[in-house]
Amino acid sequence: MAVLGLADPGDGDWARLRGLQYSSLARVSRLRIAANLIAALGVVWVYFSALHPALLAMWFAALCGSLWHTAGIDKALADADRRRMSRDEVNRQSRGSIYNALVWVVPLAGFAPFGTESARLELWAITAMLMTASAVLLPAVPLGNLLFAGIVGGGAFAGFAWAGSYEMALLSLVFVGVVALGSVENARSFLTARIAESAMAEKSEVVSLLLREFEEGEADWLWQIDTSRRVRSVSPRFAYALGLSHEEIDGKPFIQLIAGPAWDTGQFPSSLHDLAERLKRRESFSNLLVRVTINGQQRWWELSGTPKLDENGNFDGFRGVGSDVTEQRESSEKIAHMARYDTLTGLPNRMMVTEALGEAMRYAEQWRTRCAFLMIDLDRFKAVNDTLGHLVGDQLLARVSDRLKTVISDNELVGRLGGDEFAIVIRDASDHTRVTRVAQAVIEVLSRPYEVDHHTLYIGASVGSAIGPRDGTTVETLMRNADLALYRSKEEGGGLHFGYEPALHAHAEERRKLEFSLRRALENNEFVLNYQPVVDANDETIVSFEALLRWHSEEHGLVSPVKFIPLAEDTRLIVPIGEWVLREACKEAKKWPGNVKVAVNVSGEQLLDAGFIASVVSALSISGLPAQRLEIEVTESIFVRDSNTARAALEQIMSLGCGIALDDFGTGYSSLAYIRNLRFSTIKIDRSFVQGAATGSPESLAIIRAVVAMAESLEMSTTAEGVETERELEIIRGLGCRKIQGYYFGRPMPSAEARGLFAHSNLRAVNE
Ligand code: C2E
Ligand code: CA
Ligand code: CA
Repeated sequence: MAVLGLADPGDGDWARLRGLQYSSLARVSRLRIAANLIAALGVVWVYFSALHPALLAMWFAALCGSLWHTAGIDKALADADRRRMSRDEVNRQSRGSIYNALVWVVPLAGFAPFGTESARLELWAITAMLMTASAVLLPAVPLGNLLFAGIVGGGAFAGFAWAGSYEMALLSLVFVGVVALGSVENARSFLTARIAESAMAEKSEVVSLLLREFEEGEADWLWQIDTSRRVRSVSPRFAYALGLSHEEIDGKPFIQLIAGPAWDTGQFPSSLHDLAERLKRRESFSNLLVRVTINGQQRWWELSGTPKLDENGNFDGFRGVGSDVTEQRESSEKIAHMARYDTLTGLPNRMMVTEALGEAMRYAEQWRTRCAFLMIDLDRFKAVNDTLGHLVGDQLLARVSDRLKTVISDNELVGRLGGDEFAIVIRDASDHTRVTRVAQAVIEVLSRPYEVDHHTLYIGASVGSAIGPRDGTTVETLMRNADLALYRSKEEGGGLHFGYEPALHAHAEERRKLEFSLRRALENNEFVLNYQPVVDANDETIVSFEALLRWHSEEHGLVSPVKFIPLAEDTRLIVPIGEWVLREACKEAKKWPGNVKVAVNVSGEQLLDAGFIASVVSALSISGLPAQRLEIEVTESIFVRDSNTARAALEQIMSLGCGIALDDFGTGYSSLAYIRNLRFSTIKIDRSFVQGAATGSPESLAIIRAVVAMAESLEMSTTAEGVETERELEIIRGLGCRKIQGYYFGRPMPSAEARGLFAHSNLRAVNE
C-alpha cells in the first residue's frame, strides 16, 4: 500500500519519497504522449474502414484532451522531488490516469463490436503494448499504472467476454495481472534505490559541507603527507598557502616546501627542526609554531598533525591542519617591541634594561663572574632643551643614542631610562678594566660637539657604575648604587666616571643630614657674610666688596658655599637665604664710604622667584643704601632656563639703579650674545682665564682681550677674578682689565675686618 501511495507508514519520510516518485512523471511525459499517439493512430488505422471518421476524430480529440490534462499535471509535479507532495496532488494525478484509461476503454468496448475478429485482436495488441509501455516508462508511479491497466484491461476482458472469446478474456486478465505485479515490483525497487540514494546523498552532502566549511575557515588548511613525508592530496588552500600550484607540490617533501634556502644549507630554524623531528618520530603535535620560508619570505605557521594509520593499523603518513599566523605574531611582536623599546631613540627602554640587568645578574651568579651597570646622565642637556626647544633636544637625544651604540659590544646592552638618562648593562665584567673603559669611551664620545639644526652643541656626560653582585645582589640595589655613583660625578662637576663605593651611602646620608641642618640654619643665625675687596686696577683703591656667604653649622662646622649653595638651590631654601644675604649686605655697605659698592651673588632660583624685586627694594629701603651702590652678580646659567623672565627681572633691577655683573664669564654654555643684549655694569672674567693667561695660554689671553675690548666698546667694566700673585696682577693689568679681585688683594673677610680696611689707603701694605 505504501508503494502504491495509499498508505504512509510512520517509519520514513514518505511524503518526500512520493515526491521523488511523481517527479519522474514529467521526465517521461513526452514519451508517454508519443506512445499514446502512436497507439491511437494504430486504432484509427485498424478501424478507419469500419467506423465513421468523425467518430474516430472525436475519440482522437478526447484522447488528446486527456493527454493534455495529464501532461499538465505531470509538469506541475516536476519539482515534487524538492518538496513535499500533498495527497490532493496524488489524487489529481490518479484521476488523470483514470480519465486517460477511460478514453482507451472506448475503442475496446465501443469500436470492437463493429470490426472484425482480427481487428479486435489487433486492438488488444495495441492496448496491451500501451499498458506495457506505461508500466515500463512509469515504474515510479504504480498507482497510475494499476488504474490504467485495470481499467483498460477490464475493458478488454469485458469486450472479449461479450464477444464470446473466453480464452482471450482470460488471457487479458492474466496479462493485466502480470503488468500490475510487474509495475508494483518496479516501483518497489525504484523506491528502494531512491531511499538508498538519498541516504548516500545526505551523507556526502554532510561531508562536503564539513570540508567546505573547514577550507573556508579563516586561515586554516588541511595538509597530508605519506610515509616518506611527501605531500599528498593537496588541498587548494594549502597550495595557496605555499604559493605554488597543485602539481608543484604533490609528492614533494613537506619540509623542502617550507624550509626555503635552509633545505640546501641544512641550517633549519629551531622550530622547523623541531617539526622535522616530530614527523620523523611519528609523534603527534598541536599548534606548533614553525618559522617557514614561502617564496623567499619568512612567515610563521601554526601546525597541528597526527599520524595516520591504515586499516591494518600501520603508519600511513601524517594528516593535520595548519594556518598562517604571521600577521598575528607580527602585531603581537610589535606590541612587545613597543613595550620594550624607547620610541624616540629606538633603544631598549627602562623595562628591558631592568630585565637585561636581572639576566646578567643571574648569569654572574651562576658562573661566579661579575656584571656591571652603568648609569649615564648628560651634562648641560637641560640647557639645550630649554634654550633651543624640545625638537632640537629630541634630535640631540637620538644622536646621543647613535653614539652610545658605537661604544658597546655584544657583551653590552645600552638603553634609555628616560629623559637624558641612559644605562649600559655589561653582562660579563670579570675584566675589571672593562667598566672603566666603557665609561671613559661613553664620556669621550658623548662630549664631542653635535651639529643639530645648524647649531653646534656641546654637552657632556657623567657616568656612575656599580658592579654586581659585589655592589648589590638585587637589580634594585645595583641600580640605586650606580645612581649614587652618578650623583657623585654630577656633584663633582660632570664629565666624570665614578664607581660605587659604600662611602657614597655615607655621602648621600651626609647630604640628607646637611639639608636637615640647612633648613634650620637661618633661624639659628648660623650664616655670616664675608666680604672680599675688589680694587681698581690702576690705583688699587677699593671700589667694592663682594659679599660671600659663610655657614657655621652647629652639626657640621664651617661648610663651604660650593657645597651648601647647590643644596640650597635644589631645595629652594636659597630664596629665604638670599633675602637674608641681600638685607645683611646692604645694611653692612651702608657703613662704608659712599663710593664703595657691594656685590651680592644671586642664583637663578632667586631671580626667577616672583618676590625677588620686592626683596631687593625692601633691602635697599630698610638699609637706606642708594641703589647705585648695589651690584647683583648673576651667572650665564640664569639665561639658560627661562631667559625672558630672567632678562625682565634684571631690567627691573637696573631700572632701580642697581648694577648687574656677569659672573664667572667664560665658563658657561653661552656666548657673547648675552653681553650685547643686556647692559651689564661689569663682566667678571673667571679665575681659570686669569690663571690661564698667567701660564701663557693663548686661548685665555685671546678671550680676555676680546672680552675687555668688547666691554670697553659697550661701556662695561671688567673684573678679573682670582688674582693671587703679583705676576698674575701684572699680566691682567697689561690686558686692560679695570678691576681686580683675588687673594692677592684680600681674601673674603669678616665685616669688621673689611671695615678696618678703609683706615688704610694701600691694600698691598695690609696684606704684607
Ligand atoms: P663666586 O661668586 O665666583 O665667588 C668667588 C669665589 O672665588 C669665592 O669662593 C671666593 O672665595 C673665591 N676666590 C676669590 N678670590 C680667589 C682667589 O684668588 N683664589 C681662589 N682660589 N679663590 C678665590 P666662595 O666664597 O667659596 O664662594 C663660592 C661660590 O659660592 C661663589 O662663587 C658663589 O657662586 C657662591 N656664593 C657665595 N655666596 C653666595 C651667596 O650669598 N649667594 C649665592 N647665590 N651664591 C653664593
Ligand atoms: Ca660672585
Ligand atoms: Ca666668580
